[in-house]
Amino acid sequence: MAVLEGCEAKFKTPVLEERKCPECGEDVEVFTVNGKITADSACDCGYVFRAEDWSDEVPAIKSQKKKEEKKEKEEE
Ligand SMILES: [Zn+2]
Repeated sequence: MAVLEGCEAKFKTPVLEERKCPECGEDVEVFTVNGKITADSACDCGYVFRAEDWSDEVPAIKSQKKKEEKKEKEEE
């Protein structure tokens, strides 16, 4: 399948990907951006695929995070 890069590359849309659970071998559907898991996804057996840091790929989200941290400090 062709992957659209270029002008659309900066809009990283999470895609549903199947990962094999290392515990039970079941396929688990996880959301990924550039192959990195964006949200914790639990397998039926209890194994959790941890979200990976993919914020470097999306500068907008990174700056948003910084803003929130600033807010918290101001409130203290
Ligand atoms: Zn499992």
